[in-house]
Amino acid sequence: RAKGEGGGVHRAYEPQLHALAEERRLIELALREALEKDQLHVLYQPVVDAEGGCVVGFEALVRWTHPQLGPISPAKFVPVAEEARLIAPIGEWVLRTACMEAVNWPEDVRIAVNVSAEQLTHASFVAAVVSALSYSGLDPRRLELEVTESVFMSEGTGALKVLDQLLALGIHLSLDDFGTGYSSLGYLSRTRFNTIKIDRSFVVGASNNKAESLAIIRAVVTLADSLGMTTTAEGVETQAELDMVRRLGCRKVQGYYFGRPMLARDAGLLFPHHQRRSA
Ligand code: C2E
Ligand code: MG
Ligand code: MG
Ligand code: MG
Repeated sequence: RAKGEGGGVHRAYEPQLHALAEERRLIELALREALEKDQLHVLYQPVVDAEGGCVVGFEALVRWTHPQLGPISPAKFVPVAEEARLIAPIGEWVLRTACMEAVNWPEDVRIAVNVSAEQLTHASFVAAVVSALSYSGLDPRRLELEVTESVFMSEGTGALKVLDQLLALGIHLSLDDFGTGYSSLGYLSRTRFNTIKIDRSFVVGASNNKAESLAIIRAVVTLADSLGMTTTAEGVETQAELDMVRRLGCRKVQGYYFGRPMLARDAGLLFPHHQRRSA
């Protein structure tokens, strides 16, 4: 009897699993085509100094519009790309594209690019970064690479060594979505991150006066200060959230309140007095 039920549950599950695998396979195929056919593009979201309100940087965010399926979120296709070993070519394309845009912006404006932990397990990643920098002519100090805490789980793959090599080039490193993943504070002293990005979930909590979120942001800011790092509050949507994270000492802010991810030409319009570097 128990066996029969188990079997029933199993049978009920299978079509769903199958559909999921099928969806992943379709995304993978379409993604390969997207890379070849230029269906990817990059949007840029401003990062703002919490005190002065100036734009101090942009985060590059990849976008994919499939000709039939329409826009597909990176939250959906990036994990598929990671599994299908497509994240390296996609990531390198985003990196080159973002660096080539960033040279048109004022020199104190940084460009942040997301990097999957998977990319850091290939020693060739450093060479790809060096090549993007030299091809675009971007000063390495203007490039920031964002990695999530998952990078700490790829110990033994050489990922942490790659981070050291990137730091040695003068590139900035940020720890993205901090507090949502596998955090081990020991790693913060092992690798010299420049910035900790505090995940939006804490920002929302803090503005709702949730004691835990307030305490976590306060603790992260203190930790960052004492380790010589700065903090960015992610996903700031309202004046109340801005006031709160500012009061808690976050140095930089990013979110819809300041600007949605935008086209490069609109990003450039934020610096009306800046002379574009002519090609
Ligand atoms: P992330 O790096 O944490 O990027 C921040 C995400 O929050 C972006 O979502 C951004 O559009 C969104 N966001 C910004 N401000 C707000 C706000 O005020 N409210 C809310 N609710 N959301 C806000 P997006 O663009 O959909 O990207 C999702 C994730 O996909 C990124 O999270 C990042 O992990 C990944 N991703 C995006 N582009 C790339 C890429 O080029 N390479 C890799 N490896 N991952 C990428
Ligand atoms: Mg990011
Ligand atoms: Mg984030
Ligand atoms: Mg994220």
